[in-house]
Amino acid sequence: MLVNTSPKRKNKILQRYLNKKFGRLKIINLFFDNNVLMADCICDCGNIKTINAYNIWVGKTKSCGCLREENRMKVIQKIPKSDYAKIIEEYNSNKKMTYQEIANRYGVTKQNICRIVKGR
Ligand SMILES: [Zn+2]
Repeated sequence: MLVNTSPKRKNKILQRYLNKKFGRLKIINLFFDNNVLMADCICDCGNIKTINAYNIWVGKTKSCGCLREENRMKVIQKIPKSDYAKIIEEYNSNKKMTYQEIANRYGVTKQNICRIVKGR
């Protein structure tokens, strides 16, 4: 439907969807890539990602991927609170250690580690 889209129609699409929110994604830019409408989106989590706009409108893509990640998080074992101090110490004592590396060790997401370290 977007092949040979006229400039007028392109403008219409932009007006309709720019700065609109779909799930966690806010569309901040739209452009055509080989006649596929792509959307630059900013997610609630702060990530910016380029996604096929059609997938956003039909509800197939609702986040940058963090939503799927969070759902995955729910089924994995959460880190016991008693381990928090250890994790914070680990992070602070070794500056080369990234959230992801610690997360991998505990089998959780880096967002989890980030939250623990930042005390949220
Ligand atoms: Zn996100």
